[in-house]
Amino acid sequence: MYKKIFKIIKKYDSIVIARHIGVDPDAMASQVGLRDAILNTFPKKQVYAVGNGGGKFSYLGKLDHYDGDGKKTLLIILDTPDKKRVDCSDVDQFEYKIKIDHHPFVEKFCDMELVNDKSSSTCELIMQMMYQTRLKPTKEVMEKLYLGLVSDTNRFMFNNSTSFTFGIVSQVLKDYQLDISNLYSDLYLRPLSEVRLQGYMGQNMKVTENGVGYIKITEDVLNDFQVDVASGGNLINNFNYIEEVLVWMAITEDIKNEIIKINIRSRGPIINTIAEKYNGGGHKLASGAKVMTMDEADCLIRDLDDACKKYLESLK
Ligand code: 5GP
Ligand code: MN
Repeated sequence: MYKKIFKIIKKYDSIVIARHIGVDPDAMASQVGLRDAILNTFPKKQVYAVGNGGGKFSYLGKLDHYDGDGKKTLLIILDTPDKKRVDCSDVDQFEYKIKIDHHPFVEKFCDMELVNDKSSSTCELIMQMMYQTRLKPTKEVMEKLYLGLVSDTNRFMFNNSTSFTFGIVSQVLKDYQLDISNLYSDLYLRPLSEVRLQGYMGQNMKVTENGVGYIKITEDVLNDFQVDVASGGNLINNFNYIEEVLVWMAITEDIKNEIIKINIRSRGPIINTIAEKYNGGGHKLASGAKVMTMDEADCLIRDLDDACKKYLESLK
């Protein structure tokens, strides 16, 4: 499959690489890494990594602007299971579309699709592609892919880290001599305001009867702590392994976009099918959702509490 994808990449002089809305390090590192490896291999090609919000991950590189009409252009979509979440306007204008993703399958909307939900991250898939094709990555490309992989596995802690993950990472560390502690400071450096918000979240987490921990972060709280709407989501992984909590979530008011964004994590009950009922989705143990009112958010909390109850009963 990688070789087939490589053949198509070779054929096109103009390539756009997109990923999901609400950019995260795996999405951005995979697109920038793939772009730079293609350019390093084929310097004459025009390759654009597109999408909004890349500024906050500037250590992963810069994104491009594409204003072509899609003719004679290949679109590669990374880390995105469904069409509506692609951060690129008019996906269907492109001559040929390829999807490379590690989310559970949602829908087929590309001409060629490589979906492996056993893979830790899209960066892991792109690393694999580097080894199986004649694409020539630089050390910087591998550094970025490493950071994307580390971010999606939460430093190899989630159960999406497989023996394959450790194997390929070991190979990359050996072949490219990565300085990992230096790289981590890019990924994990954060402002004091966010650490203070984390304190607030711990103080104000409520826990339901069956172990759903939730924190409501209103616009006023965001203003008090001088943090942006993504901050609650950025901190969500720090609330793993709380004895009383099986599923936990940040519920953040996003006044500008008139929605309430919810980030959900689990250390047992499957949550993506529940998130799908609330305009969201994701992985079995890491999902997101969007609702319009706090009442809807409360319904989601109840559904998750129910899932925790069933999960606890299944363990008996
Ligand atoms: P996060 O909480 O970090 O935003 O997202 C966790 C996971 O859920 C990621 O894999 C992300 O792609 C997915 N996800 C987050 N929000 C949504 C959403 O609104 N819809 C869908 N389908 N997936 C989402
Ligand atoms: Mn990912």
